Amino acid sequence: MTAPTALTTLTVHEPTAIRARLRALAMDLAWSWRELRRRPFQMLDMRAWEATRHSPLGTLASADDDRLATLSTSTAFMGSLDAAEADAHAMPAPQPFIAGHSVAYYCSEYALHESLAQYAGGLGVLAGDHLKQASDLGMPLCAVGLLYGHGYYRQELDEVGRTRVSLPRIDRSTLPIEPTGVVIACPIGRRQVHAQVWRIRVGRVNLYVLDADLARNRPEDRELTLGLYRGEPLLRLRQQVLLGVGGVMALHAVGERPTVHHLNEGHAAFAAIELLRRERERDPGAEAEALLARVRQSIVFTTHTPVPAGHDRYPHADVLRELGSTSRAAGLTASALKKLGREHPANAGEPFCMTVLALRTCRACNGVAKIHGEVSRQMWKGIEWGTQPPVAIASITNGVHLPTWCDPVASAFWRDQCQVDANGNTIAGQGWERAEQVDRAALWSLRTVLRSRLVHFVRERCARSALARGEGAAGALRASQLLREDALTIGFARRFATYKRAPLIFHDVDRLAAILGNANCPVQLIFAGKAHPRDAGGQAYAQRVFEMTQDPRLVGRVAILEDYDMEIGRVLTSGADLWLNNPLRPMEASGTSGMKPPLAGGMNLSILDGWWPEGFDGRNGWAPAPVADGGEQASDEIDSHDASELYRVLETDIVPLFWDRADGGLPAAWLDRAAHSAASVPPRFGTVRMLDEYAKVYGLLPS
Ligand SMILES: *Cc1c(COP(=O)(O)O)cnc(C)c1O
Repeated sequence: MTAPTALTTLTVHEPTAIRARLRALAMDLAWSWRELRRRPFQMLDMRAWEATRHSPLGTLASADDDRLATLSTSTAFMGSLDAAEADAHAMPAPQPFIAGHSVAYYCSEYALHESLAQYAGGLGVLAGDHLKQASDLGMPLCAVGLLYGHGYYRQELDEVGRTRVSLPRIDRSTLPIEPTGVVIACPIGRRQVHAQVWRIRVGRVNLYVLDADLARNRPEDRELTLGLYRGEPLLRLRQQVLLGVGGVMALHAVGERPTVHHLNEGHAAFAAIELLRRERERDPGAEAEALLARVRQSIVFTTHTPVPAGHDRYPHADVLRELGSTSRAAGLTASALKKLGREHPANAGEPFCMTVLALRTCRACNGVAKIHGEVSRQMWKGIEWGTQPPVAIASITNGVHLPTWCDPVASAFWRDQCQVDANGNTIAGQGWERAEQVDRAALWSLRTVLRSRLVHFVRERCARSALARGEGAAGALRASQLLREDALTIGFARRFATYKRAPLIFHDVDRLAAILGNANCPVQLIFAGKAHPRDAGGQAYAQRVFEMTQDPRLVGRVAILEDYDMEIGRVLTSGADLWLNNPLRPMEASGTSGMKPPLAGGMNLSILDGWWPEGFDGRNGWAPAPVADGGEQASDEIDSHDASELYRVLETDIVPLFWDRADGGLPAAWLDRAAHSAASVPPRFGTVRMLDEYAKVYGLLPS
């Protein structure tokens, strides 16, 4: 107990001091992957923590001085605050990762945490994980993007499962963003568009984000940073001018001097034109080709899109108008600019393609998995390179940032059981091979804890959604009785782009109902995912899944969660026993969600696409037999084939294995596979391996 005299003096100044200390912690996003740094906020107000989507600043804003004064006398709270600060001061020493280089990373979205809703899906998750890993490794890297006023969108499903889009404004005061004091003027079309530059601290990495929603801009220019991927092609083009040209300007204005510009996807490819303009300014007399060759030396490019239709293409007239002043100042004639965006420069019918621009202005390029690299090489093999040496397209398979995606309960488990530090900073996450020998009963308890937590999470969310849809107390009650804690739990969550085929498992409802409804070995399915607001096909898929949750043959065994985000991603990937992935091959460039469940003892059932052909070794999950090669198959034939393969593998292999409880009540053979999944996936599909490969492939390592 604190002496009364001390208390009276403390209450005068302690709230202010504690608020300042918490604020300082909140401003560094390292709390998003270092549990110690979140704890003081959770202790401050668990309800506010949940209500703000786990926002430290939001939680702090809701705490009054009385609360802080009370906590200042709590040794537990003050201890957690001290521990969080100690963690902030003891960031592991940087590793000598890349020599003499500093990298600027460009991306249109960053998924860093659910409270920072600046992402739509996998591209953002990859970018966020890249920054966090660069921070952990002490890589000299900064990043640039846009700051969106309402992020992507919030999804609700109405009483028949139709998507309802809402676009609430994000409250800036609860975002961990700091003004840099820099405002850039980016030429777009005939005007200078002003953008304020904010800094987001991601551990040791600075992410700079541009905000054009300023009173001095014209209304249509203020819209440039309202939302992500809003669909209108001209708006999208102008956003990309701001990201590419404005991104280079912003980094320069805040004093960053990168030697390498890493374009993550083609959205930021106009950066090359601004870099060319800067070379021209420095050396006005030089030949355009010589300057371009210099620019090329500094650009590397990661492509993500395995189908021709997925790449951004614009009419030349629009590109010339919106980018015109930068490209003229760079010394490019209209025809020279056109040629940079065409596969066949002489083909007058070919629109301007951002990926082609990136390919023609980079020194090296990569796809995001082995197959995707191959598909990309095929897709772009027809490019006429002229005098320029052709750019090779390598493969660097994506990874996930283990400390972000390994649940704290699981992470403590691996530490105790196998001395693996999932939160650690060791190259290639050493020690995961010891998961092979993990105690089976302990692994089963971990699975039971995480699965139960998921089931309760789903019930609570679904009850809330039912009330919001007007289903009343009866609806909420039904939701609270969904699912079972012991059933084999299959998770499926990703953007509902149609190629990902969310409702494929419902191809033959009766056959599925027989699998899920077997009283001796119950199985259940949990879905989450948003379709793009303009993707009617994707929304129809969400509706189909919604309808299936109400089908009498399946009811109680299938659930869908609204508004998929990083929190749902974490809870679902750690709670699911089996992670389902059934894209139409070869459309899944990599996919990363399947790399997450093995961190919690889960396994994959995935079509052999994206990263899985590299990850699957015959014993760490399942891969249905692909459609026989040869000939163009109609897509409904492929659906039929793939769905019946999924049923077959579930019926003959997966369900019997999970429910084989001969050995003292444990599913022994299942746990052997799960242990092997944990031993084999995380060490190879973490971002440490990925960043190491980037450094090698792009020649950034010390020689
Ligand atoms: C991991 C993750 C993704 C990526 O999933 P894919 O299977 O690669 O599409 C997308 N969104 C969220 C929220 C994630 O956590």
